Amino acid sequence: MNNTLTEQQKTGELGLVVTRLDDLMNWARLSSLWPMGFGLACCAIEMMQTYASGYDLDRFGVIPRASPRQSDVMIVSGTVTFKMADRVRRLYEQMPEPRYVISMGSCANCGGPYWEHGYHVVKGVDRIVPVDVYVQGCPPRPEALIGAFLKLQEKVREEHLIAPLAVARLMGKTKT
Ligand code: SF4
Repeated sequence: MNNTLTEQQKTGELGLVVTRLDDLMNWARLSSLWPMGFGLACCAIEMMQTYASGYDLDRFGVIPRASPRQSDVMIVSGTVTFKMADRVRRLYEQMPEPRYVISMGSCANCGGPYWEHGYHVVKGVDRIVPVDVYVQGCPPRPEALIGAFLKLQEKVREEHLIAPLAVARLMGKTKT
């Protein structure tokens, strides 16, 4: 059997596209990452700017949702105080799997300017939720947040349906 694809088959002119189910599902998921619409401090202003027309996150299929139940990405944009920590965890638990977390800015990454004397600040949001991508800066620019989404897209592209993230977490292979 000749396995060489013709030009027509490659370009889909025959109305037939051959691909793996993993690739198709991952392409659909990475093209529609929906973050939860919430912010914690000054980094949230940069996040809002990234959504706005100048940077236009919509063109990546990134559209904020008003409910954690409709979201698959949590952007932790700002200082996580101890007062807010259990709220952040609760919102994360209300998101369906597969879910992802972007830690945006120094405060969320490690406590930021409060890392030493901030008695009220969690020294890194990864102590309460698993983080997939960290964004450096105080505050990070919109380009950096866009870069985080591109990195997250690469991560989603590599996932397999046969071992989805939720199952891996249940089996204890990744952090919960
Ligand atoms: S990292 Fe800087 S800009 Fe972001 S919340 Fe902390 S202090 Fe504000």
